Amino acid sequence: MCGIVGYTGNNDACAFLITGLQRLEYRGYDSAGIATLSSDSPRIQTTKVAGRVAQLESALAAGTIRGRLGIGHTRWATHGAATEINAHPHSGGRSVLSLVHNGVIENYESLKTDLQAKGFEFVSQTDTEVIAHLVADHYAQLQAGGEPTVEHCVEAVQTAVSQLRGTYGLLVMFRDFPDLLIAARCGSPLVIGVGKGEQFVASDTSPLVGFADRIVYLADHQVAVIRPESIQVLHRDQGRVRPDVHVLSSDSVDVNMEGFNHFMLKEIYEQPQSIQNALRGRLDRDNATAKFGGLNLTPQQLRGVQRIVLTGCGTSWHSALVGEYLIEELARVPVEVEYASELRYRNPPTDHATIVFGITQSGETADTLAALREMKRKGHHTLAICNVIGSSIAQAADGGIYLHAGPEIGVASTKAFTSQLTVLTMLALYFGRLRHLSFEAGQRVIEQLERLPHLVEQALACHDQVKEIAAHYHTANNFLYLGRKFNFPTALEGALKLKEISYIHAEGYPAAEMKHGPIALVDEHTPSVFIVPQGTVYEKVLSNLQEVKARGGPVIAIVDHDDPQVARLADNVIRIPQVEDFLQPIVASIPLQLLSYEIALLRGCDVDKPRNLAKSVTVE
Ligand code: GLU
Repeated sequence: MCGIVGYTGNNDACAFLITGLQRLEYRGYDSAGIATLSSDSPRIQTTKVAGRVAQLESALAAGTIRGRLGIGHTRWATHGAATEINAHPHSGGRSVLSLVHNGVIENYESLKTDLQAKGFEFVSQTDTEVIAHLVADHYAQLQAGGEPTVEHCVEAVQTAVSQLRGTYGLLVMFRDFPDLLIAARCGSPLVIGVGKGEQFVASDTSPLVGFADRIVYLADHQVAVIRPESIQVLHRDQGRVRPDVHVLSSDSVDVNMEGFNHFMLKEIYEQPQSIQNALRGRLDRDNATAKFGGLNLTPQQLRGVQRIVLTGCGTSWHSALVGEYLIEELARVPVEVEYASELRYRNPPTDHATIVFGITQSGETADTLAALREMKRKGHHTLAICNVIGSSIAQAADGGIYLHAGPEIGVASTKAFTSQLTVLTMLALYFGRLRHLSFEAGQRVIEQLERLPHLVEQALACHDQVKEIAAHYHTANNFLYLGRKFNFPTALEGALKLKEISYIHAEGYPAAEMKHGPIALVDEHTPSVFIVPQGTVYEKVLSNLQEVKARGGPVIAIVDHDDPQVARLADNVIRIPQVEDFLQPIVASIPLQLLSYEIALLRGCDVDKPRNLAKSVTVE
């Protein structure tokens, strides 16, 4: 979480810092701030607001802040409230330096006690301020009253980070050096944009587009010494290392809303295309299978896989649940789904023929990264299913599959979810074809997948009807989402979407489980959304629907054919196109996404930046 930007060069730092923070705001938006330094001023100038980047921009317009060196931050608070005082940048020593941080410092209390004993005064409640004073403390000691040098700055940062436990992406600027930026990374992403006579730093590549076309990803335990004409990368154990320069493609980001009122709505409508992009080049009709370039295992090795672990958080965990049904059904390989936050500490017994997929939109989810690393350490082949090219998880895993969904800016995931499901379906097909799935059955899966973008397009036609339904139910305080088999995870994801952006309490449940508790919630004020398309569990779900109706609960039903039985029982019926049951979660998610979007709008919620959330969860 949180976005970091930095600039050193010959131009006004603010221009890049503000644009960069705007592009990173989806990562966190509790507060925003920047610090700049110019060679003709002896002081670092800092502006912070307890609010959005737009407010920071207004605050800056009113002031006189200018400089050719600067750092900026948009925060997702972990320690201390979202106040101006707690906003970054934080200054260290007596404004000797300024620092921005992404991550969590676990041992900050003991470090703080030591620093307070030395006379350092803390003004914020953040863990970050500890790092600022720690670096300042080492810096002062290294100078020992003499002339400050760049080497002192570097060593002060290196020594300070060696004392930290936790995660950090850091950018530091020193009052004594108006062209120097020092970056350090452990667990939180940082990427440097290489320019001509200027350098840029950001938490991900989106701010760099249009400013730099070459980039350097900083790795864990590296410190970068960045000046307008040079970048030096130092590794904790290996000393100086050569920066690995990559090309940043100009289509890496598309940050416009293109006529939509919100990124979320734009991304919902992009799904026919994003699914097409996930499929592109991966369906092999001749062999009735799927193909992937980056699994880095031979078909023979994959044939030997006895068990698959799918791990992720939030929406990606729901994708994993669908993946379990898909892979077990199409490929007959046992699958286990694990919350990454649990897997990383649970230490489950695993055998050598287990492979692990980490599923994450951003590729930066801290728990998924840690879980994958732990499984890799145990000797398992680890694979990433993620959207962001070059992300930490993409780099840490032994191989993987990119979603190619394009940037997802809305904090509530929509297109990344359906792209994950598309990839998992192809994966199930691929594993199935390595085993028992016949050529004909494989071809049928391919035919279904090829029709999918068009069917998702058709599903979007329910939007107007969903608007009316939303108008009817937007004042409800509780919702239930119910489905079975493939649509049990669909129900979980539908409930999560509503919770995330409208702040209505919603629970997703396997429809039959409802009798074991949640049915107690049913009354005339609690709508239940039933996902009840044709298929092997249709009759069963219909019975569950009847049970809710018998207790006076309003029912919104999602069906895939003209269904007189459901029409008689349900208060509202939404029709989606018919697909095989294994693709129903993708198609059925469309009305659920739209429903949560419309309800959130009617409740006046900030759809793209829901309260307390952030897009890329880089803290534990
Ligand atoms: N832990 C820091 C804070 O609460 C940084 C949080 C972030 O990554 O935005 O200020």
